[in-house]
Amino acid sequence: MTAQVIDGKAFAAAVRARVQDAAHAFKKETGTPVGLTVVLVGNDPASEIYVRLKVADAREVGIESRDVKLPATATEAEVLDVVRKLNADPSVHGVLVQFPVPSQIRQEAILDTLSPDKDVDGLTTLSAGRLTSGRPGLVSCTPQGCLMMIKSVRSKLDGLNAVVIGRSQLVGKPMGQLLLAENCTVTMAHSKTRDLATIARTADILVAAVGRAEMVKGDWVKPGAVVIDVGMNRIELPDGKSKLLGDVAYNEAKEHAAAITPVPGGVGPMTRACLLRNTVLAACAAKGIRPPTEL
Ligand code: NAP
Repeated sequence: MTAQVIDGKAFAAAVRARVQDAAHAFKKETGTPVGLTVVLVGNDPASEIYVRLKVADAREVGIESRDVKLPATATEAEVLDVVRKLNADPSVHGVLVQFPVPSQIRQEAILDTLSPDKDVDGLTTLSAGRLTSGRPGLVSCTPQGCLMMIKSVRSKLDGLNAVVIGRSQLVGKPMGQLLLAENCTVTMAHSKTRDLATIARTADILVAAVGRAEMVKGDWVKPGAVVIDVGMNRIELPDGKSKLLGDVAYNEAKEHAAAITPVPGGVGPMTRACLLRNTVLAACAAKGIRPPTEL
């Protein structure tokens, strides 16, 4: 069996197109655009690139986006003051603070200050609590994108065995909660899990979010499983170039799986698209507008 490849780029393009329509409809109905603000503290070159991409992505779909830059010497109080002002600004529907922040600022202090209604990264404790409690709220972009891709190949997840490898706040835990809410029987695996290969082999849906290149071997994959590879591991090659590898040994796994996401071109593009989707969802919720069901 050779797996169906879930094309994250194409999937993300379709999500962006729907977000664009929804952002347009929002502006028509309310007279104001959907607004996203990205806060950057300091001048880490990688963070600067991420912020630029996020702002450009948003503009491309008709979301009014801007960045707020603070110097690397900014105090925690100054950053929190900016977050509070954005919380109170009705033209801003989504706020994200680019992490990591300089060491004098506590990441938790930012997350405890940011309104969960504007938390388009789905990272605040209140967003996590809403997800766990089955309440409406904004969900972390990467697991949300993974779930959408899983549902594109398995319309009903009821009763399926799902194994999530990795229990980070950003990916693994919300992924487990999303699959539980879809009535999967969820196993959360992590670095202390015993006999991971045997557990992985029970999975109808296997999500790897570990950060270890090609850790999940082909014979860990149950025949016919859906495999979602979140890992992004940059490996240096002997010729000085580098290559991006997932957490799954793709060439082996695709011989067992029914469907699989590649790296690159799988989960990554969907994460970016889901940020835009979350921003429109936040805007609709702020105005009491029902978002399009297909969004
Ligand atoms: P993280 O915070 O480092 O968490 C990694 C998780 O993997 C932890 O729960 C850890 O267990 C577990 N783990 C580590 N070694 C393991 C092992 N040998 N066996 C089983 N579990 C093990 O990472 P993350 O933020 O969740 O990200 C995971 C990967 O996804 C990274 O490669 C990251 O770059 C990538 N990522 C991609 C996207 C995207 O858009 N494509 C977005 C986010 C992250 P413990 O809890 O026991 O330590």
